[in-house]
Amino acid sequence: MLAIHSLPALLSLCSAFAGGAIVYYYQRKRSTRFAREAQQRLEAERASGLHLMLSTAEALAYAIEARDPYNVGYLDSVQRCVHALCRTLDLPEEEAAPLRVAALLHNIGRLGVPEHILLKPEGLTAEEREKLQTHPVLGARILASIPFPWPVVPIVRHHAEHWDGSGYPDGLRGSEIPFGARILAVASAYSALTRPRPYRPAYAPLDALAQIEARAGTQFDPAVVAAFRTVASALRAEIEDPDAGHTRTLLSRAVVSIAQRDARTALADIAMAQRETHSLLRLSQAVNASLHLEAVCDTLLECTMELVPCTTCVLFLIEDNGEFLSARAARGANARHLLGSVARAGTYLTGRAYSRGEVVQASFVVEDLQLREVSDPWTPLRSTLIVPLQVNGETIGTINLYSEEPEAFDYEALRLMRLVSTQAARALDNARRFSDVQETAYTDAMTGLRNARYLREHLEREINRAQREGVSLAVLNIDVDNFKLVNDRLGHARGDQVLRDVAAILSAHVRNYDLVARYAGDEFVVVLAHADRIAAEVVATKLKVAVAQHIQRVRLQEPDFPHVGISAGIALYPEDGTDLQGLLCRSDAAMYRDKQSRRRAPVTSKEERQVA
Ligand code: GH3
Ligand code: MG
Repeated sequence: MLAIHSLPALLSLCSAFAGGAIVYYYQRKRSTRFAREAQQRLEAERASGLHLMLSTAEALAYAIEARDPYNVGYLDSVQRCVHALCRTLDLPEEEAAPLRVAALLHNIGRLGVPEHILLKPEGLTAEEREKLQTHPVLGARILASIPFPWPVVPIVRHHAEHWDGSGYPDGLRGSEIPFGARILAVASAYSALTRPRPYRPAYAPLDALAQIEARAGTQFDPAVVAAFRTVASALRAEIEDPDAGHTRTLLSRAVVSIAQRDARTALADIAMAQRETHSLLRLSQAVNASLHLEAVCDTLLECTMELVPCTTCVLFLIEDNGEFLSARAARGANARHLLGSVARAGTYLTGRAYSRGEVVQASFVVEDLQLREVSDPWTPLRSTLIVPLQVNGETIGTINLYSEEPEAFDYEALRLMRLVSTQAARALDNARRFSDVQETAYTDAMTGLRNARYLREHLEREINRAQREGVSLAVLNIDVDNFKLVNDRLGHARGDQVLRDVAAILSAHVRNYDLVARYAGDEFVVVLAHADRIAAEVVATKLKVAVAQHIQRVRLQEPDFPHVGISAGIALYPEDGTDLQGLLCRSDAAMYRDKQSRRRAPVTSKEERQVA
């Protein structure tokens, strides 16, 4: 990280080196001819010293811009606006020159604002806003020690002042604010509005202009806003086609073009490095922020595609059977074909990358995956990079990158994917464990059915849905009859087996979208979506018959086996109750009545007649 105090020192050094040493040498010579020549050389050196200083400042300004990925292009835009305004307002060169430098360096004080504030997606707290608002003062302080030949510092210090005095840092108003700062205020506001921020999307140029115009006389000098209106359409054309106008207004025009090219490559590298750091940080924060497996998968692919250019990115995780890897998330071209596709462990590319825990860099092989059949057209893919996801020595899946280009993935892509895969594997492993724990928390270990906790949440959801859609809903309370006798006569383990058998019978006789839960002991609850009383009675009878048939088969083998059966009670939404508790109580009471009637006339009960 660039130390704040090093910046003025670096810039001063450039100018001092260019001028001071030469003067000292020639003064000592005291020769008129030499002194004249020295003066000329001094001026030339000063000019080139200034250029050197400005290009150094420029490089640093762009490096600072690159810290914030939302700001890419902001400085270019500010400079374009300032240029256009200087022309339209016919600003003399001695005022335009410091303004151009200030346009480049006005955000240098942001070096002193922590990144988490600059990049915060939500609104800022009062303290954070205060910290952010220190940046013009800090910027002015940094620049104060640089011997600019023009008054750059006041423009930087006051560019956030408001025309009506409500701005910062000094609350200056109207003509108290340096004119250059008033121009910069409009240019920087427009450039910021037309770029996305963490908390809002980018404004379209016309909307940004409308925002600026709406604040004429309050935030901005009306005269500057009027001038801006006249240049806005030309600026818009440049924004839409950046090559149409002058692209970057280089302050140091004397810097030779080769040096510019080198500087730009270096700047591009800096910007890329910053973006990489930011994407990795975002990846780490995002994947660790959620324990929800699907959310982790989606964020992971999004961040990966930001970092490594590719056509498609797919995440495969190994299935519980250890035999197949299935695509849990896919992004980019062919995503619908790839999502849910399957690779067999140990075979072809994905399967080999998984089984051997090795990176595979190869041409695309269609046999690698069993793709899903969808009607979307298929985009031909030419190359692939498959990186295993490993955590604690175990491979849990792969991240597959695909490209339409042959041999698209180089060493750089591989380097980045190693960083991504380490982060990703840990986060995915956590999310997977969490989903296992959650599964356990909702499951009855003995029967494998959903438990009472899950039942309550499910029933709440179903009641809301029935209410929304104006449909009915049935709750069936089921209790095993004479169950204690099994425990008493045949032991607890045999009792457990009976509960498992009943659970399996109940599950087998309801629709997929109905829920069977073990509520407590030998009591079960079935939730029947969209069912009315008749439908619920049909299901209740079907379940009683199925259990009775099962027990009859058991009693054929073991005549001593108790006369076990089930009693059932129905409660309907909305007739019998409109909330969870009401429905559970009413169905329990109905079950109890059923049990009583079965006790009084066990042989004549409907299901036993049917079994018979
Ligand atoms: P009723 O016909 O009135 O329903 O009486 P029941 O014999 O079925 O007994 P009841 O429903 O009143 O009580 C359920 C019994 O189930 C009480 C408890 O000892 C037993 N039980 C509860 N949980 C388990 C379990 O996980 N395994 C076994 N084996 N028994 C259990
Ligand atoms: Mg019972």
